[in-house]
Amino acid sequence: APKDKVAIIGSGNWGSVVAKIAGHNVKRSSTFHHEVRLWVFEEFVEGRKLTEIINERHENVKYLPGHRIPENVVAFSNLLDATRDATSLIFVLPHQFVENVCSQLKGHINPNAKAISLVKGFNTTDSGIQPISHLIREHLQLPVCTLSGANIANEIAEEKFSETTIGYESQGDGKLFKELLETPYFRVGLVNDVVGVELCGALKNVIAIGAGIVDGLKMGDNTKAAIIRIGVLEMRSFIKRFYEGIKDETFFHSCGLADVITSCYGGRNRRVAEAHVVTGKSFEVLEKELLNGQKLQGTLTAKELNRVIAHDGLENEFKLFTAIYRVIVEGLPPQKIFEYIL
Ligand code: NAD
Ligand code: 13P
Repeated sequence: APKDKVAIIGSGNWGSVVAKIAGHNVKRSSTFHHEVRLWVFEEFVEGRKLTEIINERHENVKYLPGHRIPENVVAFSNLLDATRDATSLIFVLPHQFVENVCSQLKGHINPNAKAISLVKGFNTTDSGIQPISHLIREHLQLPVCTLSGANIANEIAEEKFSETTIGYESQGDGKLFKELLETPYFRVGLVNDVVGVELCGALKNVIAIGAGIVDGLKMGDNTKAAIIRIGVLEMRSFIKRFYEGIKDETFFHSCGLADVITSCYGGRNRRVAEAHVVTGKSFEVLEKELLNGQKLQGTLTAKELNRVIAHDGLENEFKLFTAIYRVIVEGLPPQKIFEYIL
């Protein structure tokens, strides 16, 4: 059988780590083609195109400096060149960019292609939330798995042991992507719950903002644990309210509680929220000042979440999510979140 061709769509902090992992794995594989194509949203770094730098130096000097990307990973700035003939597509973009990318890809996808979404976020429409896996599936008419877990990209780049979760609908697809992405230091668990896996990944970003607020207020570990506990309950009840067939076990895979914990201690959402409390600057300004082009997902997700919560009048059931939204958007003084969640 012809070998699967891999394309990675997105080359930020996490996308670059995934390029390293997949690039190494395909070299030893009889399933996958030896070359991995990486779509890069083109920009100039120190006067040069980022794609050229990646292809010459084999390093994403802006989003993952100091780590080598294998030479069989080739960067492309043209989306259709990057994905031509690809049969395994990995989506790893900030969620706000996925729709635009999918509309460019529409009609240009190999009929045998499968996708996996590593994106942590969702869209909202007037009828509710739209998981990114559904958005990709609807635009491109292909089966979509999800991958999410307690996965701070820089730690995985250093090959420190961690776990992740793949959500699948067809077990064969789940196993294929596990073969592509698993390493001895990056262990993949499988669960038959595509939407549960990705929605945990989206909602934990909002909880992490709560944790950052606690850190900014210098409240301590008990307070942070309370935010984590309440946040996990709201996360579970939100997901179960809007989707049927979500598995309880999903919340105890890496994509669930474990990702909430790592993000509440080590993530970018946490860091920017802490800085917001300390400096009083807006999240938009701090994202630019602190993240060097990397993107926050939790602020957008808090707004998208609130659109659904407010539409359905659910503020009393999702007090923490609502309070965090008010801090981000309405300028609620951070210490007031405790009045909301009483
Ligand atoms: P990032 O935040 O590090 O980088 C932002 C990326 O967006 C860059 O590649 C940039 O070139 C690109 N970009 C900017 N404008 C764009 C546009 N208009 N269209 C398309 N792309 C554009 O990215 P990341 O960390 O790889 O995050 C991608 C997804 O992976 C997010 O949903 C994130 O939550 C998730 N994730 C991240 C981590 C992590 O530790 N970084 C871990 C797990 C999951
Ligand atoms: P941040 O985007 O908050 O850094 O979280 C990264 C992540 O998803 C860890 O699993």
